[in-house]
Amino acid sequence: MLILHNVPLAPLTTLRVGGPARYFIEAGTATEVREAVDFARSQQLPFFVLGGGSNLVVSDAGWPGLVLRIALSGINHRHNRGYAVFEVAAGEDWDKFVAMAVARNCAGIECLSGIPGSVGGTPVQNVGAYGQEVADTIDAVQVLDLQQGEERELLKDDCRFSYRTSIFNTTELGRYIILRVDYALKHGGESRIEYADLKKYFAGWSAVPTLAETREAVRQIRARKAMLITPGDEDCRSAGSFFKNPVLSAAQHEDLTRRAAAKKLQVPSYPALDAQRKISAAWLVEHSGFSKGYTSGRVGISRKHTLAIVNRGDATAAEVLAFKEQIQQRVEDIWGIHLEPEPVFIGF
Ligand SMILES: Cc1cc2nc3c(=O)[nH]c(=O)nc-3n(C[C@H](O)[C@H](O)[C@H](O)COP(=O)(O)OP(=O)(O)OC[C@H]3O[C@@H](n4cnc5c(N)ncnc54)[C@H](O)[C@@H]3O)c2cc1C
Repeated sequence: MLILHNVPLAPLTTLRVGGPARYFIEAGTATEVREAVDFARSQQLPFFVLGGGSNLVVSDAGWPGLVLRIALSGINHRHNRGYAVFEVAAGEDWDKFVAMAVARNCAGIECLSGIPGSVGGTPVQNVGAYGQEVADTIDAVQVLDLQQGEERELLKDDCRFSYRTSIFNTTELGRYIILRVDYALKHGGESRIEYADLKKYFAGWSAVPTLAETREAVRQIRARKAMLITPGDEDCRSAGSFFKNPVLSAAQHEDLTRRAAAKKLQVPSYPALDAQRKISAAWLVEHSGFSKGYTSGRVGISRKHTLAIVNRGDATAAEVLAFKEQIQQRVEDIWGIHLEPEPVFIGF
């Protein structure tokens, strides 16, 4: 097992800020994962599990312990009760797996095309986009349970998925290292065209788009918003959407509507959000004075997507944090709503 020292973390993340890891191990097998855990324990080092680094803000000081990068690879395919089950190692690239499933005509994750990161990262925040979320198709998650010291299988219900959450980022945070995710997909199933952007893209089509056409549409829509990592596009230097769509109580919604009316504005309504009592974080940010392209020194808002905070070049994590706080404060002052960040902050 190769143990590296002082490894810069910024290049291993999509936002590209932050300092080094004191120790760094890349694990290609479950045995190496265990060895890395043993090493961290023997040295009493805090450790952090790194996937594709697409949902992270690393502090300028870096990580004082061990960063364990999950590089497990391999995909097995079997049939079970009418489903095509893909057993995908945690270190596999998510979008490569989606491409493979679509090429084999297996439905259920086509709308999640183009999302960066690893397969092991997908259950953590129940990744979702364009009308699908991984909770719809995850069958089981194979983990190393750090409390019990053994490998276990968690079934979908054990993971308690909801909007951008699971046990992995809430109640059992830090307990499990995800080794493999089993996806149950529908061979020959139809594309899910429910989200407004996709409906618009396919308006006028007489036939139901194929999975491959849906994947292509999603990737094109994402590219227009810099939500597909495109080399050379500086608006892609982000951690994706920086804020979650807030879920409001009836009273909060009433208060928001009143505040909007006082400004002669109407809170927008989207069927996909309304169904879950969510409102658009992008609308709140935009109507608090932060529009696309807004710049504050070396950080700013993407020119293509209001919810993405971008590093315009050589920004520090402190600058990202200060900008995030400025946005949160302004939204709270104007709309009375606290925006929860979506990325994971490490080393702060
Ligand atoms: C341009 C862009 C677009 C995006 N679009 C979307 C989107 O549409 N929808 C969406 O939901 N997200 C989106 N994201 C966020 C991000 O891509 C996802 O959350 C992704 O699943 C994170 O995976 P990762 O491997 O990069 O995880 P990391 O960023 O490396 O880690 C994120 C968290 O997961 C944990 N983790 C990662 N792997 C493991 C493992 N094997 N075991 C245990 N814990 C682990 C880490 O410890 C950390 O807490 C986007 C990000 C970017 C940059």
